[in-house]
Amino acid sequence: MKCSFCEQPLTCKRCGQPFRPRQRETLAAIYQPDMQLACPECQAVLTCKWCSYVYGDPDAVEETD
Ligand SMILES: [Zn+2]
Ligand SMILES: [Zn+2]
Repeated sequence: MKCSFCEQPLTCKRCGQPFRPRQRETLAAIYQPDMQLACPECQAVLTCKWCSYVYGDPDAVEETD
């Protein structure tokens, strides 16, 4: 899928993996500005590798491990 801001293939800036949403709800969430998205690969807040748009608030994430 594409970044909704820069139209590049949406790729996680932290781990470099392409973002592949596993749930239909995740796809819908991308278009809701208040929704936070996490990378399914590294669990970081999803940040576009190309334009650095953050899909959520990085300060709101709690480290779980
Ligand atoms: Zn990642
Ligand atoms: Zn982007």
